[in-house]
Amino acid sequence: MNILLLGPPGAGKGTQGERIAERLGVPKVATGDVLRAAVREGTGMGLAAKGFMDRGALVPDDVILGIVKEALEAPAMARGVVLDGVVRTVPQAEGLRRVFSELGRSLDCVLLFEIADEEVVRRLGGRTVCERCQTPYMGKAPGDPCPKPGCGGKLVRRKDDEPEAIRTRMRAYREQTEPVIAWYRGDGTTFLEVDALGDVEEITERVMTRLAQCGEANG
Ligand code: AMP
Repeated sequence: MNILLLGPPGAGKGTQGERIAERLGVPKVATGDVLRAAVREGTGMGLAAKGFMDRGALVPDDVILGIVKEALEAPAMARGVVLDGVVRTVPQAEGLRRVFSELGRSLDCVLLFEIADEEVVRRLGGRTVCERCQTPYMGKAPGDPCPKPGCGGKLVRRKDDEPEAIRTRMRAYREQTEPVIAWYRGDGTTFLEVDALGDVEEITERVMTRLAQCGEANG
């Protein structure tokens, strides 16, 4: 099953994507994770992407489509994939359709995480991530040790979770990503909306119930 997660930054796509992928037994591809790893490793792509990411702007479509194509061509992805944080522009949606079609596949459904702007600001402003294992946490301070047993990393604030970058990310979502919603609705792809407010477990259950409507989720 091939699923795409859509929704503003901070809607919980990463957390839920992890859980959905595990339940469905397919890998997750998060372009943000791939880009952050490239930045850490100092690759050419990482160096080119860092400036966009730090200020909360979108990385150019050709870079993103390159990541997606390479990921989807891997044999591990043949059974399906959960796409998190991609697509974020209409040209990316068109490019993804081309990539899938070259592989003889198509998207089974788009899942839109719905959440109010004030909640996005609250979540991103209160988020820290472990610099080692990259797990996000709420309600912990930068400098705290990572709560994950055996990790030993330190929690930091993502540069793009600073107030100015949060504003840029929300503007990018409104101006560049929201048009993708209409594009998928017009494209005939199964489109499901899910309320992204609530506790993690509850939202996963909500998502799985909605996914069953895609037909193949239970099969
Ligand atoms: P995320 O972890 O999904 O919030 O992504 C972090 C940052 O990576 C974004 O603010 C963008 O700078 C960049 N990024 C990730 N995915 C995409 C995408 N599909 N299109 C453009 N930029 C992206």
